[in-house]
Amino acid sequence: MDSGITLSETLTSLRVTLQQMARWGCAGFECPPETLAVMQRWTDTALAQLPAARPADRTAFGEPTDKLLPADHETLEQIHSDLGDCRRCGLAAGRTHIVYGEGNDRARLVFVGEGPGFEEDRSGRPFVGPAGQLLTKIIQGMKLTRDQVYICNVIKCRPPNNRDPLPEEIGSCRPFLKRQLAAIDPEVICTLGTHATQTLLNTTAPVSRLRGRFQVFNNIRVMPTYHPAYLLRNPERKRDVWEDMKKIMALLRIPL
Ligand code: URA
Repeated sequence: MDSGITLSETLTSLRVTLQQMARWGCAGFECPPETLAVMQRWTDTALAQLPAARPADRTAFGEPTDKLLPADHETLEQIHSDLGDCRRCGLAAGRTHIVYGEGNDRARLVFVGEGPGFEEDRSGRPFVGPAGQLLTKIIQGMKLTRDQVYICNVIKCRPPNNRDPLPEEIGSCRPFLKRQLAAIDPEVICTLGTHATQTLLNTTAPVSRLRGRFQVFNNIRVMPTYHPAYLLRNPERKRDVWEDMKKIMALLRIPL
């Protein structure tokens, strides 16, 4: 099963990359619809193989039971202490606080955003500004609380004037994000916006092309959707996000 999932992740990446290159007009990368359909079927097959029910070591919404974790299981605290007073990239110079992430360390659902903004930098907490308030409403709309999920970002320090993160900044933070996700081992990751989606799925395709369909990252389902900050500017897209959240709720068996 694992090799099937790994292959499907590679094919997912390949499929969206080939489609993107064809759209950019790179001759020779166009795939016939039959080939794209085969690649999509691999993703669907791998998704169908992943366990649908909540793992035995969790209660309904993520609180751990006393089932033992593997001996080599890394905790979020250990990763946080390894991150320390991080100076691995230039963003350290301008930050007030590192925004590591917060929530349930055995959450079934993790939201991954782009990076801290003004309010997050000031408080050290993810998604507490205007976009964060919208994310909190989305979570409540799913009949969950912020304490039941986990919320973090691709990069942990605020870029100057909220500019897009640079590849080297993402490169410095990505290993910590991956370790956080491995430590939590959720059933679903919801990537918010293009940067989070591209970082986890290793693609250059925009979120508008990937949202609404489950993808796979390290044996975990990923639902890409629009970033709440984008929704504040484009409220007509809220309906799309709600459709995506309903798919996550169905998977987690949260009744509508
Ligand atoms: N936008 C993000 O991507 N993350 C935050 O924490 C806040 C705003």
